[in-house]
Amino acid sequence: MAKAEETILEIDLHALSHNYTYLRSKIKPETKFMAVVKAYAYGSDSLAISQHLQDLGVDYFAVAYVNEGISLRKGGITTPILVLHPQKIHFQSLIEHQLEPSIYSKNILSSFIEIANELGVAEYPIHLKFNTGLNRLGFSADELPEISKLINHQNSIKVIAILSHLAATEDSNETEFTNLQLQRFNAICQKADVSLKTKPLKHVLNTSGIINYAHAQFDMVRSGIGLYGYGNEPHIDKMLQPVMTLKTIIAQKHRISAGTSVGYNRKYSANTETITATLPLGHADGIGREYGHGKTFVLVNGQKARIIGNVCMDMIMIDVTTIECEEGDEVIIFGKGLNADEFSRTAKTITYELITGLSQRIKRIVIK
Ligand SMILES: *Cc1c(COP(=O)(O)O)cnc(C)c1O
Repeated sequence: MAKAEETILEIDLHALSHNYTYLRSKIKPETKFMAVVKAYAYGSDSLAISQHLQDLGVDYFAVAYVNEGISLRKGGITTPILVLHPQKIHFQSLIEHQLEPSIYSKNILSSFIEIANELGVAEYPIHLKFNTGLNRLGFSADELPEISKLINHQNSIKVIAILSHLAATEDSNETEFTNLQLQRFNAICQKADVSLKTKPLKHVLNTSGIINYAHAQFDMVRSGIGLYGYGNEPHIDKMLQPVMTLKTIIAQKHRISAGTSVGYNRKYSANTETITATLPLGHADGIGREYGHGKTFVLVNGQKARIIGNVCMDMIMIDVTTIECEEGDEVIIFGKGLNADEFSRTAKTITYELITGLSQRIKRIVIK
């Protein structure tokens, strides 16, 4: 572990290897593994994470948008990359960088065929996405005959995979709905194997799907949050290791008397003599104002210290009255020693939002 001398996001590649091995152990050896590295690999460092996973032998990557895929290609990633939500305007550069689009509507399909034909490509791999109940993106099952006919007449494209996305794999109150989605997906896959001239791969599970519905792993699984060390359930978190640890230092301490206020709009007022510490990170770094007003703790020399008053743009104040600490001491915001899931819950949000919201201003330090 590096010792912080400023705000840093430590990225531990050993933890990544551990999580990858754990998630792989939940599926059959022949099942392919797609690592989801969208949004800067969930706020970490997409290139460092992807390079390491490529070395570990991951089968596929997924990003949300074309520019994310282009960055990976420019950084030397040669593994296949699925773009989950490509926009028409980027189809040409998608093809130039050998990225594979998720095609989810007739409108998008005909635009892609047009560009593929213009560029003169042959059997360009595409993934067809079906809506089974999330109602976000995807063809409906009854569009399958029509799009199969259209696709079977094209030489420029080839359906390499069929996918869908599940709405609530982490929620044990929604198993009935998840099973319904899986049944719908299964039915679509069976029909597609008949109506399409090729036999595509099938993929549907995300991290919590791998944990709770491994029987439905099909040919490939897609994991994001689990790789970064979070399993949406405390007993899974225990099996995983946090890849990201957000650390900072104490910039200054103040001893204030009872009745003294701290921070903007004087939202904290000391009841008794209090010692505060100021930290060099704030809502511009992704730790929003929801974390203020005493709801959330950080870790100073192994002890919990409350965030007090309003979170500022570039600074946070904490109460260290009962904690032995000095200016320059390290503070852990979340990660190793302080679970990001618990941290995010104090602000009524989820780990996904917390980690992907960390600003690019924070220095990333990769531990190999
Ligand atoms: C983001 C995303 C995933 C990854 O989900 P996790 O819960 O992070 O494993 C998988 N599939 C799709 C379509 C996604 O958008």
